[in-house]
Amino acid sequence: MRDLQQLDHTLRQLEGRPYGAYKSISGEWSWPMGALHFDYVQADPFAPPSRVRLHLPAEWVGLAPELLRSESRRLGVAALLARAFSRAAIENRSRDRIDGNGRSGEIRMADPRQVVACQTAVQIDATGSIEARIHLGLPAQGRRILGKAARRLVVEELPSLVAAALRAEAHGPESLLEAARTNEDQEALRDALAEHHLVAFVADDALLPRLSGRDDRPLGSDEAVLFRSPDRLRVTLPTPNAGPVTGLGIPEGITLIVGGGFHGKSTLLRALDHGVRNHCPADGRERVVCRSDAVKVRAEDGRAVAGVDISPFIDGLPGGRTTAAFTTTNASGSTSQAAAIAEALEVGAGTLLIDEDTAATNFMIRDRRMQELVPAEREPITPFVDRVRALHSEAGVNSVLVLGGSGDYLDVADCVIAMTDFLPEDVTERAREVAAEFPTGRHVASSEFPWARSERVPVRGCVSARKGRRTRRIRIFTGGMVEFGSERIDLSALEQVEGEDELRSIASALALASERYIDGERSIPEAIRAVLAEVELRGLDVLDPRRLGDLSEFRIFEVAAALNRLRTLEIR
Ligand code: ADP
Ligand code: MG
Repeated sequence: MRDLQQLDHTLRQLEGRPYGAYKSISGEWSWPMGALHFDYVQADPFAPPSRVRLHLPAEWVGLAPELLRSESRRLGVAALLARAFSRAAIENRSRDRIDGNGRSGEIRMADPRQVVACQTAVQIDATGSIEARIHLGLPAQGRRILGKAARRLVVEELPSLVAAALRAEAHGPESLLEAARTNEDQEALRDALAEHHLVAFVADDALLPRLSGRDDRPLGSDEAVLFRSPDRLRVTLPTPNAGPVTGLGIPEGITLIVGGGFHGKSTLLRALDHGVRNHCPADGRERVVCRSDAVKVRAEDGRAVAGVDISPFIDGLPGGRTTAAFTTTNASGSTSQAAAIAEALEVGAGTLLIDEDTAATNFMIRDRRMQELVPAEREPITPFVDRVRALHSEAGVNSVLVLGGSGDYLDVADCVIAMTDFLPEDVTERAREVAAEFPTGRHVASSEFPWARSERVPVRGCVSARKGRRTRRIRIFTGGMVEFGSERIDLSALEQVEGEDELRSIASALALASERYIDGERSIPEAIRAVLAEVELRGLDVLDPRRLGDLSEFRIFEVAAALNRLRTLEIR
């Protein structure tokens, strides 16, 4: 096999040659600490950067056996290493800028940020060897190769970054162990929820607020009020490493989060919806977990809806349009929210999370006076307040609702948590008294949940990521826009998606579903589950044969959500 010296020599020789000559470095090279594969060599300096894959042997990496004992431990350590590498690479770039065009001299790895999930940037196997995937911008001036700069990048900077970030000795043994243990504990906490009849758990001393809406890092500890559970809702859950942990247990059923504006309601709910994923040590949410089938739903007017049964919530539209298979290219706030719920239930959501800030008011409530003014025959909407109980009793679906503005929900809640100055209080008893003392006088719709559980079957060929001669065209834009074939899908409303890597995985999963499983026979859940089963069996690389370094874990709910927002979706 060609070695590092030969690579060094080859790159020097390329100095001044046309950019396309870089292709000669494709393939595998051996280097002192393992093997390096150029999987893709860019065709020009402005193209997406080249991709290299490194194999680092276990002896060289030096991870202690206790870090490798379980998959969740390895994932915790892998996330720490990927974070370290991606940040060191950014620092290196600002220090050591290579002149040149486009992405010349860039070294980049996908940054898992605060999240710990299965990803392809750094993967650790059970023996402790590592596969790392890195983007390199091969340097050029104009269309001429900067060979000396390239050799510095590949033969000097890359190895030194690898040694500085991907080796055990570069990190304190304590921080590695902490990453491994914390991740294992989060899995255990989440696994314990069902057995304790909880939908979510927030440990005492958790730090929930984030730096900003755009920045997922924790708010400074001098500003943040740490979480403290109210006595009656305090539970203790076991963890394998940290021992018993106490905190707020949110019970199954219907939970309301109430309180004045700016007292931390939405922040608590956001911590819960992100609790379907694990977080790194010192994130503040590393002991905040939610059942993994929890789905945040919201109003999203303007979206498309294809053949969704929203009749439990909306029925008898003017003009007699059917709502048992409701289709529109431009949904209203209430129909979009009804559709989001029906679509989530179709793929198995077990808990719904709703925030008044992003919900359609007429979908959530309709008070006594409005019932009087607008007769039921002329109101197509049965508000969520009249369905949420039956949704639990008949379909087993829990709800956690942030609602500071409507007391009508007090009648249907099992548990009421009031946020005051960012701290929760259990006001369930008091809420019962208030409800008894001040009846709403509302007419309540029937207590059934008129739900015909059914799975929609997409028409064969209506979903395709093809564009021109390319069998698959997917591009991800910041803010949640996805280019999918010749379509664009707006996924900005999917608040539980952790970043662009997850979006890429969701879009790739949808593409794979369209290529293999959306055949006019399989239902939406069947087609997506088939993709998930492949990923489970063979890893994230089944999504894309190019061995991308920026894929990460995703759920059935978000793939379904992407499919449901695709404007070409047609139901048989
Ligand atoms: P609400 O939904 O009740 O109106 P938010 O959750 O939006 O309130 O919080 C209001 C503001 O307070 C936000 O800027 C948020 O970052 C901040 N905040 C939330 N929780 C805490 C906390 N525990 N400590 C400090 N600041 C917080
Ligand atoms: Mg709010």
